[in-house]
Amino acid sequence: MAKLIEGKIVAKKILENLSDEILFLEKKPCLAVIIAGDDAASKIYVNSKKKKAEELGIKSVVIELPQNCTQQEILEKIYTLNNDDSVNGILVQLPLPPQINAKEVVEKIHPLKDVDGLHPYNLGQIAAGNKPHAYPCTPKGIIRLLEYYDISIAGKHAVIIGRSNLVGRPLSLMLLNENATVTVCHSKTKNLSQITQQADILVSAAGQRNLVKADMVKDGAVVIDVGINRQEDGKLCGDVDFWGAEPRASYITPVPGGVGPMTICSLMQNTFDLYKIQNKI
Ligand code: NDP
Repeated sequence: MAKLIEGKIVAKKILENLSDEILFLEKKPCLAVIIAGDDAASKIYVNSKKKKAEELGIKSVVIELPQNCTQQEILEKIYTLNNDDSVNGILVQLPLPPQINAKEVVEKIHPLKDVDGLHPYNLGQIAAGNKPHAYPCTPKGIIRLLEYYDISIAGKHAVIIGRSNLVGRPLSLMLLNENATVTVCHSKTKNLSQITQQADILVSAAGQRNLVKADMVKDGAVVIDVGINRQEDGKLCGDVDFWGAEPRASYITPVPGGVGPMTICSLMQNTFDLYKIQNKI
């Protein structure tokens, strides 16, 4: 039977410590969030980020733009925030409306304020084996979970399903920097189960319900499920057949309550870390 990796509990502990540190600051860190359009899920995510920031004593500014906003309008908001010394972190909630070039928007955020860690400078630093100003939130949360549970990474074969800039790609580099042997799989990968069966650490970030079945998991593997999907009854589930994989795994994350809480925790930690860099603390 696997040990449960309880991201919810780990995130709570990290955020309690963070809140204590912020309490003693005279000038509080500030996170600015730009949201464009009417995407209902994005609005929920932005509200929960704002709420969590305020609970911790982080100031939050939400800038809302209409669905029909222009590239120039978003870029002007970014330039204003880049030049505003009271703002430490800038986050652009994705997805953006279809007329917007999201890549250009992310590239215009100052790398020192790139709280999501998605700017090419920060991703490039990771690729070069250096420390970025901020790590992408979900991969950072996953590494922290492994550290918290004393799961060693060096020398392990880590198999990641998914190669997005948000999760799979930066995570593969971060695990490589921690001396894992890394295999990245994607939708064109052949014989996925033969590869996953070799994983000491198996991460699924595909967003496909029931993608990882019990027989794809090696005995004793650490299974990290990043996926967020809906079951027929509307409940959330991951990519992994949890009850099938759980008897084989040594550690496993639940969905919800595994990786998800760590992502928002990393966002708050990144805001504080950027504040410290900008204020030379
Ligand atoms: P993307 O859709 O951007 O990327 C999905 C990746 O999975 C792609 O690389 C795709 O391959 C690959 N993939 C899809 N289907 C298969 C398949 N059948 N076999 C192998 N590879 C496959 O998603 P994100 O990376 O943004 O998110 C992935 C999941 O994680 C989603 O469910 C999302 O909701 C969740 N998520 C959860 C977070 C959390 O905090 N828990 C945070 C961020 C995301 P290809 O590149 O070839 O298309």
